[in-house]
This record gives sequence, C-alpha cells and structure tokens, in this order.
Amino acid sequence: MKKHSTVAWHREIPVRYECDVAVIGGGIAGTSAALAAARSGARVLIVEQFGVVGGNATVGGVAAFCGETGGQGEAFDAIVEALESFKAIEPYRPYPEADNRIFDHEILAFVLQELLLRRGVHMLLHTQIADVRESGGRVTECILSGPSGPEAVRANQFIDCTGEAKLVHLAGFETVQGRPGDGLQLPMSLMFFVRDANEKDIRVQVPDGWIEPIRNDDALPMTTIWPNGPRGRAIKIKIPKFDAGDTESLTAAEIQARRRMMQVLDYYQRVKKEPWLFDHCSPRIGIREGRRIAGEYTLTLEDVRAGRTFDDAIARGVYFLDGHKPDDDKRTYILSKDDLKVPPYQIPFRCLLPINSENVLAAGRCMSAEQLTLSSARVMTTCSMMGQAAGIAAALAVKRNCTLRALEYSDIRKTACGRNAIIDL
Ligand SMILES: Cc1cc2nc3c(=O)[nH]c(=O)nc-3n(C[C@H](O)[C@H](O)[C@H](O)COP(=O)(O)OP(=O)(O)OC[C@H]3O[C@@H](n4cnc5c(N)ncnc54)[C@H](O)[C@@H]3O)c2cc1C
Repeated sequence: MKKHSTVAWHREIPVRYECDVAVIGGGIAGTSAALAAARSGARVLIVEQFGVVGGNATVGGVAAFCGETGGQGEAFDAIVEALESFKAIEPYRPYPEADNRIFDHEILAFVLQELLLRRGVHMLLHTQIADVRESGGRVTECILSGPSGPEAVRANQFIDCTGEAKLVHLAGFETVQGRPGDGLQLPMSLMFFVRDANEKDIRVQVPDGWIEPIRNDDALPMTTIWPNGPRGRAIKIKIPKFDAGDTESLTAAEIQARRRMMQVLDYYQRVKKEPWLFDHCSPRIGIREGRRIAGEYTLTLEDVRAGRTFDDAIARGVYFLDGHKPDDDKRTYILSKDDLKVPPYQIPFRCLLPINSENVLAAGRCMSAEQLTLSSARVMTTCSMMGQAAGIAAALAVKRNCTLRALEYSDIRKTACGRNAIIDL
C-alpha cells in the first residue's frame, strides 16, 4: 500500500453541542469526571466511542476494582453502591487484606449509564473525537465523528479520559509513550470467558487447521484464570509489544490476541481436558497503557516510594507497582517481587494538567506519570478518584469563570474530601 502522501481537507460542520464541561472517553475515569462535574451543577456532555460506557472495566472485560475501594470519592461510592444493590460486587474488605473486589462487568455497564443519566449528563455513544480546535492553549471545540457524521462540541472545559490522551495529542500538547528508550508500553491483555460444559456438549471446539496448537505449558502466554459467576471463568492472556496509539499496531494486537485466545482455549480443552466451553470474548483488547500527557508535574517512582505529599494533592494511590515487563508474554515483572510494594502516595493536580493548556485536564491512565508509577496509579479506584477531582476542577473553573491554573488547588481538594475522597496519607 502506498504511504506518505498527504491530503488537506476543510469542511464546515455544525456545532451541535454546547456545554460547560465535555468529557471525552467514558471509562471509569471519564464517568467519574462526568458524575462529579454534574454534581457540581455543570452542564456535562460525555463522548464514548463504543456502545456502552465503562472502557476497560466493561468493554475490556476487566471486572475487579484493585486497591482500596473505600474513600475513593462520592462518584466511586455511587458506582459501588449501585453494584451492591444488584448484588453484583464482592463484599468490602480493606486493602491490602483484599487487593481486589470482583464485580459483574455487564451490570456495571448498565449501572454507569443510569447514574450518568440520573445526573443529567448528556451521553453520546458510538462517537469518537476525531480532531480538536485549539488556540493559545485553549481548546474551543472538539470535532466528533458519530453516526450522524462530523459534528462539533463547544465547551468551556474539556477533560481527556480517553486512556490514550487523544484529545491532548490532537490539540498539539506534549505527550509521552511507553518506557524511555524504545517506547514499549506495558503489555495488553485479552479477556475471554468460558463456562462449564454439560455432559452432552462437545469438549473440543477448535477444528484442525485453524491455529498452530500449543502442546505444553511453556508455550502458553501468561494466562490468569478466575471464577466468573456460577459455572463460569474469566481468562486473561497477555499480548505484549504492541502500540495502543497506532492504528496498524492496535489492529495487529487484536488479531494476534484472538488467535492466542483460540490456542489457549484449545490447549485447555484438548491437552488439560478442562470441560470448558467458549462463552464470549471482550469486544476490545484490554489496554494497560497508551499515550500519556506530559503534565505540569510528572509523578515519579521516587515520589511513590517515598509516599511524598503535595500541596495540590487531589487523589491517593495505594496499589503495588503492577509493572509487567513490556517485552515478553510470561508472568514477568520489571522489578523483582520484593520491590513491588509501595506506601500510600498522593497524586498532585498538576499531573492532570497538560503543559501549555488552559482549559484541558486529563484523568485516568493517561495522567502524567512515569511508566512504573502509572502501573500502580492506573487501577480503577485511583482512576475514579482522579476523574472525580478533574470533574470538580472543571466545574469550578466554569463557575468562577477562570482558567484551571487560576484555581486555588486547595479548593479542589477541599471539595473532593467533602465528597468522601480520602487524600491524606
Ligand atoms: C488486562 C487488564 C487488566 C487489568 N486489571 C485490573 C484490575 O484487576 N483492577 C483494576 O482496578 N484495574 C485493572 N486494570 C487497569 C484498569 O482497568 C485501567 O487502567 C482503567 O480501567 C483505566 O480507566 P480509564 O477510564 O483511564 O481508561 P479506559 O478504561 O481505557 O477508558 C477510556 C475510554 O475512552 C474511550 N475512548 C478512547 N478513545 C476515544 C475517542 N477517540 N473518542 C471517544 N472515546 C474514546 C474508550 O472507548 C474508553 O471507554 C487492568 C487493565 C488491563 C488492560
């Protein structure tokens, strides 16, 4: 295929939406940001490329909140209480007595959309951010591409919760990727689901000739298996060395992941004689890390190890450094097992503030942090806490008619703490 030619295009498109705060990306960070901004009285629009919100937590099939699930803020509390009312989440146990809390990700998809709608958030599904209009550090509009074609949203404040810093990147603000040197990101993983077979069911499902079979444990990628409801199991397989920020590479990752899934399924059915039937696969590969913003502050490994405090702290992390090696598909970590634990640490507001931007925040796994630091801060509890803080800050900037940098950061923290976020160490 011929590469490297360019095309210029110009087109008048309608500004179909005007709001106070536009949140791009409806994962756990984005939904928490939207819930928080709406709670503060802002008119909020949330834009999500898939047909459900939840991101990795729903479309990616990641169905466990890691870290501490208490004191993460009112937005997260609302999500957990809703799941509890559906009996769709394990009972609370403090971290580290329990290091995760399993939930039903299909119920989560429903619960998140209902919570957003109850707070009056305008949801756009099947809609991608395609471009950004920026001038002097201020984003004025985002160009959306949805079923109706190209349309724009104009907002006072924008929050990038795409997980891949897409808004920030498209606006031309600085971003970084992967580990220093070669840019390799933490491995992606595909989630798929099996259920126990009945006596009469066929036990081997992959016909000859479709895959290169796996014959022994050594050839397996890292495979994690845990219960998923009655008679079901969730299976996670590691897919390293792909780039979430590159169309060709992400496509190749999805293709390889489904091939690996069939190999793993076949191995467990044929070689291990497990009586499992394929149930379904997450529609999207789980992405641990993509592009992240270059923020006014970058949270370092040293900060986290020292449990450093910040005047502008708006969130707290507790989870260990879950840094899988970027370049192999085995159960290997960048650090030795003894070095993974960290004390509770704080996340400053400046980690959500892209350099040179005036009205843009980024929350969730595209925050400004070193790769290993992010391997802790990217857990959903912490992403939600950051999302809540971003929503509070954006709504405050609207209310005060000022830029994000003109805010007293202590006001964001005070409001977040008032909404049940435990930020003190
Ligand atoms: C395999 C795997 C296992 C994990 N295990 C756990 C675990 O057990 N517990 C835990 O707490 N965390 C776990 N994590 C980490 C955690 O799931 C994620 O870091 C977290 O969910 C990130 O939330 P987020 O909202 O920042 O990003 P995401 O969940 O990625 O959400 C980003 C959203 O933005 C949308 N989006 C992206 N681009 C666009 C666009 N152009 N236009 C519109 N929308 C867009 C996406 O569709 C998505 O909904 C795991 C991650 C992976 C990949």
